[in-house]
Amino acid sequence: MATGIVGEFLDLKAETDADVLAMQCGDFYEFFADDAELVADELDLTVSQKSSHGSSYPMAGVPLSELTPYVSALVERGYRVAVADQYETDDGHAREITRVVTPGTMIETTGDDARYLAAVVRDESGGGDNASGRGGADPASGPYGLALADVTTGRFLVTELADASDLRAELYRFDPAEVLPGPALRNDDDLLAAVREELSGSVSLFDAEAFAPGRATHAVREQFGRETADSVGIDAESALRAAGAVLGYVEETGAGVLASMTRLTAYGDDDHVELDATTQRNLEITETMRGDDEGTLFETVDQTVTAAGGRLLREWLTRPRRDRETLERRLDAVGSLAAAALARDRLRETLGDAADLERLAARATSGSAGARELLSVRDTLALVPALADAIGESDLADSPVASVLDGIDRDRAAEWRGELDGALADDPPKTKTQGGLIREGYDADLDELIASHEEAKAWLDTLAKREKEQYGLSHVTVDRNKTDGYYIQVGKSVADQVPEHYREIKTLKNSKRFVTDELAEREREVLRVEEARGELEYELFEDLRERLADDSELLQDVGRAIAELDALASLATHAAGNDWTRPDLTDERRLAVDAGRHPVVERTTDFVPNDLTLDADRGFLIVTGPNMSGKSTYMRQAALIQLLAQAGSFVPARAAEVGLVDGIYTRVGALDELAQGRSTFMVEMQELSNILHSATADSLVILDEVGRGTATYDGISIAWAATEYLHNEVRARTLFATHYHELTTLADHLPRVANVHIAVDERDGDVTFLRTVRNGPTNRSYGVHVAALAGVPDPVVERADAVLDRLREEKAIEARGGTGSDAGSGGREETEQVVFDLSSGSFVGDDVESGAPSVDDAENGTAAGGEKTAGDETVADGAVAAAAESGDGPDGTGRLDPETETVIEELSEVDVAATAPVELLSRVQEWQKRLDDSA
Ligand code: ADP
Repeated sequence: MATGIVGEFLDLKAETDADVLAMQCGDFYEFFADDAELVADELDLTVSQKSSHGSSYPMAGVPLSELTPYVSALVERGYRVAVADQYETDDGHAREITRVVTPGTMIETTGDDARYLAAVVRDESGGGDNASGRGGADPASGPYGLALADVTTGRFLVTELADASDLRAELYRFDPAEVLPGPALRNDDDLLAAVREELSGSVSLFDAEAFAPGRATHAVREQFGRETADSVGIDAESALRAAGAVLGYVEETGAGVLASMTRLTAYGDDDHVELDATTQRNLEITETMRGDDEGTLFETVDQTVTAAGGRLLREWLTRPRRDRETLERRLDAVGSLAAAALARDRLRETLGDAADLERLAARATSGSAGARELLSVRDTLALVPALADAIGESDLADSPVASVLDGIDRDRAAEWRGELDGALADDPPKTKTQGGLIREGYDADLDELIASHEEAKAWLDTLAKREKEQYGLSHVTVDRNKTDGYYIQVGKSVADQVPEHYREIKTLKNSKRFVTDELAEREREVLRVEEARGELEYELFEDLRERLADDSELLQDVGRAIAELDALASLATHAAGNDWTRPDLTDERRLAVDAGRHPVVERTTDFVPNDLTLDADRGFLIVTGPNMSGKSTYMRQAALIQLLAQAGSFVPARAAEVGLVDGIYTRVGALDELAQGRSTFMVEMQELSNILHSATADSLVILDEVGRGTATYDGISIAWAATEYLHNEVRARTLFATHYHELTTLADHLPRVANVHIAVDERDGDVTFLRTVRNGPTNRSYGVHVAALAGVPDPVVERADAVLDRLREEKAIEARGGTGSDAGSGGREETEQVVFDLSSGSFVGDDVESGAPSVDDAENGTAAGGEKTAGDETVADGAVAAAAESGDGPDGTGRLDPETETVIEELSEVDVAATAPVELLSRVQEWQKRLDDSA
């Protein structure tokens, strides 16, 4: 058992569940034992050995004034750091833990991004199925309560989410630095794994009591006031419990930031466009699929000049809105700013000088703000009139841009600017206790102290000169240091000439130090005045800071207005510079884009614009075209235009009519999931399942290949059925890119399905991608085509075509048309069934009514009935074999040799789109070689 200082350290460490303890020992914070090793490893501190009662312990330390950067660095790496401070007692001193700095409660952050602490609570009242939409029978599903606090700005958000997918979407969006799972969620491995994998933050287990409803309600009322707490309407108990836990945690960690949390916002599902975590990732809004910031939508449109503006713009893009009025107002503002280039430049230049008021307000409230921070507040408040002028003296005067400043109490802002200006010294030190913070003329008592301080300093400053003159001494200086205090230093050569009342205190190599009674007296005077001045200035400063903290809402308002102006001006700047246009928002179920572009790709490519129409008559487009022709780009472009419009931004198009959606859902090839070792097909199906459950007739759905991860007929069947379901039941506006050429025939029979394809120009075997989207399906199946392009010998290509035809002959697929019962779509309730004959590429019996027997297809034995399906693989596989064996090729050549047959089989199994070109090439070479050999 360690005793002494190390023992004390270990005792304190045992009291806390923090990962690391920093304990004050005089002028240092020390880490001992394992903590010393950890800190040394992480932060490159030197470890020494501390002997304590016969044992030796690793020890590392940092000076008092340098603790913050070390703690921040540890916390940024995910550690929770406890800080124990030393305080005086009657018999010496004692130490206790004063705070625990954690990723979610650290106010001293270096980055500009918001820093959220989140608590998540699952509603255990068993209300699982009422809110979780279609298919929500899972007992482990929500609803969930979520509270998010950004301690650096005092923002506090509370909401309830219907299910786990919504919860994950929300967590992904805010990417909290720290997550507190409620008691029921601590064993939810799926959720915890998702948090660990998808988010950069850490998970902390906090006292289950703090999540209890009674205590949580009390905490929320205590913090925000009973009326606010009741009036913002946190109806859901789970949300309230999450909010209570966050408040409890912030209080317990003792970072002093509780007071800064003043702005409680409760929001519901209906306010924002649903964007699940997968979609946020697929659309590369703030992070590319590879995890970079560069090449994202945010990075592309971000022209903000302030940190707060950047945060707000990011939020607009990640949380697009559904409320038309807000969006129109934003668009009006962006429009006026886009048109008024000069005024916009002037505005942005002024904004560029603004400090981060939202954060400064939080620092003022938490007590961590020093004089320099308050000077930044002063200078930023001083910008308000300049901003008002930049707007008022231009064409922006009558636009909604002007009303952004309406929310600010400008008189009070001016008063505070004046007050801070009158109070604060021009160049204050970083520390708050040593004086130099407050300007002369602010306080009469302080002025007196300053006067005597200045006088005493002047006496000291001129002492050397006086002594020289009076005693004829050369080489005299007067100085002060920590051990000797003030002294007169005389060169050795003249040291024996000093007057008698000089008392020698030290001999150095070339000089001697002396004091006199008068100097000692003056020194006491200076120290007394310095101390009194430091104390008084500290008091005055703290009083000023506290009064400002009481008015922190003003700072938040100004900060918010600056952020909003900046974000609006940023959207306008990007729109004006890139020829973007104002979208026409409509409540109709419609997305019509004239000459649209992809907002990110257009920056680096000579982009070919394309049109798009999705509406009540044509709500489902099947997009075909060869690999790399531009299918994904076209579809993402549609989703991004929709998203930008609902962020209140202009869009990259000549014109766009955008019907507001309640959600955007996407599924695209999941490279990253593959890297994480999860089965791609399983992930693909989970994503599809989520879309089919969640999307509505007001949603936009983007499917970039469905069913690729499984055998061909399996895949077609799923894609086919998903198309029918989306078309008939969900009725979402949908873009579906597929390499299953078979699906294109659905357009003939499902009324709102239409085909488009991306045109390519082929001449002499060369393919030119035209990037132009045209109506109608592609005229071919590209797998065999690519094989031909790759130089596979003609007989093989011809044979492959024949095999394909034969396969089709063997198969028939039913298309199930019809309408959902909830869609209000003209009352056709019955299911329409048709049989698609793959051999002729056409439907038979497409006039067949539900329940009536369809044309009995004698050849393949398929009758149209509810339970009859096609696409079972045994038939498919059998067909390959049959076709291969029969040998009735188009040219009538008999049987092929076995090697050629194997090659053909292998060839027909290759998934061209999913195979890397290099691999394709090498396989083609291999086939050629084998064919040559067998010939
Ligand atoms: P696919 O999904 O059909 O495989 P992608 O959408 O990935 O094809 O596009 C392939 C390449 O073509 C990308 O590098 C993209 O930048 C470029 N591209 C796509 N559409 C256009 C366009 N309209 N104009 C110019 N380049 C485009």
